[in-house]
Amino acid sequence: MGIQGERLGKGATYARAAQSADDGLGLRLIDSFAAVSDPAELVCEVVARAVLETRSDRGVLSWVDGDEMIVAGCHDPFGEPVPVGSRWPLQPDQLVAVALAGGRVETGSYQDVPLTGLSPALAETYRGLHNLLIAPLRVAGQAIAVLCVSRRRVEAYTAAESTALETVARAAAPGLQGVRLGLQLHDALTELSQLAQRTASVERVKTDVLRLASHELRTPLTVLNGYLSLVQGGFFGEIPEPLVGVMSILQRRTAEMNSLVNDMLVAARVEDVPEVVDGEVVDLGEVLRRAVRDLLPRASESHSLLVEAPAQPVPARLDQERVSLALRNIIDNAIKYSPGGGEVRCRLRAESGMAHIRISDRGLGIAPEDRDKLFTRFGRVLTAANSHIPGIGLGLYFSREVARRHGGDLVLVDIEGGGSVFEMTLPTTAASELRRGGAPAPIES
Ligand code: ADP
Repeated sequence: MGIQGERLGKGATYARAAQSADDGLGLRLIDSFAAVSDPAELVCEVVARAVLETRSDRGVLSWVDGDEMIVAGCHDPFGEPVPVGSRWPLQPDQLVAVALAGGRVETGSYQDVPLTGLSPALAETYRGLHNLLIAPLRVAGQAIAVLCVSRRRVEAYTAAESTALETVARAAAPGLQGVRLGLQLHDALTELSQLAQRTASVERVKTDVLRLASHELRTPLTVLNGYLSLVQGGFFGEIPEPLVGVMSILQRRTAEMNSLVNDMLVAARVEDVPEVVDGEVVDLGEVLRRAVRDLLPRASESHSLLVEAPAQPVPARLDQERVSLALRNIIDNAIKYSPGGGEVRCRLRAESGMAHIRISDRGLGIAPEDRDKLFTRFGRVLTAANSHIPGIGLGLYFSREVARRHGGDLVLVDIEGGGSVFEMTLPTTAASELRRGGAPAPIES
């Protein structure tokens, strides 16, 4: 939009005073934005809060995409909203560009300079608007989006309203960065899955993308983890009371990202698992018990995790790290797809040279028509009930591959009633092959 305007917030002193005045609002916003898990809802919530805090008529959030802007969300209860997905070119003389370059809130009026670069249909939705405020959203020094609010009445924005918009933008930026990455990942995956229907060689591409994505994400995550543990360990002094809650949100989210990136890395390496696995002979009962123990922190108070395994060892020759991860995937699914809690039962029995591990839950269950898709790479089955549950559709694919390369399998067992039951089979060996003590070797996580 080719609009010009004046700069608000002159000098660092003003900025610091405004910031401390708005810390209360900022912390409240961080809490309320963190509570929204649905990406589309978060965008709506941020734009609506920006409109509310600045007494505006319209709010628009747009992603910065190279030299283009893409509308992510619009809140305009009484006017014609800008359609989500609309694009327009970013030009250096535009007020948006000035706000992005300066990294600060800018104000202006649509009346000063006519709109440029917008299609006639898009320009029409701006008819009747007067004053506006634009705040850039930045994460780690990079502009990811702009938040723009405007009024139909002729009333200039005050410095306090400018500060409020800046606070909304600052509080929303990390969450929206997550939304943005999610959308980009989703777009990339959609593109990949369309390709998969046309060419078999895309399997190779998926592995490369996984490898690349997980590798690229790992480095910034390591830095983030390092700083978080320094802060938590008191390296920068005592954590101020208002930040204690924020720290726990940061740690939770980072832990989720860690486990996602680890899953991606391991799934990318599934092709590296030898066709015939030659691992050590260990007690499968102990491997199962350890997998359940590892997942206890993932369960809520309303879940109960039960393990039923024979008292005597069930010896099996395993690539222990991968089998443990496969079991953790299935148990983790049983927990996360039972959002209302309930019993998660892990039962091991040995019969005729095979070990059978059944993991059952009382959760959302899986519709018969969706069953084929489960074990494919990126095969997520999205329903209204589970769309808020995070995942990338690699766990079951990986777990079945691992079981098969051990000479076993992983299947979804038909059961009556609610919930799901998965069964993994693995060949057992003679008890005499079990190394002394029978305890599995420690697994690096
Ligand atoms: P992710 O959980 O990351 O989506 P998975 O490969 O582990 O990927 O699972 C694939 C899909 O199978 C999930 O998206 C979910 O729809 C479904 N699913 C897996 N386990 C369960 C379960 N225990 N209960 C209900 N649905 C499940």
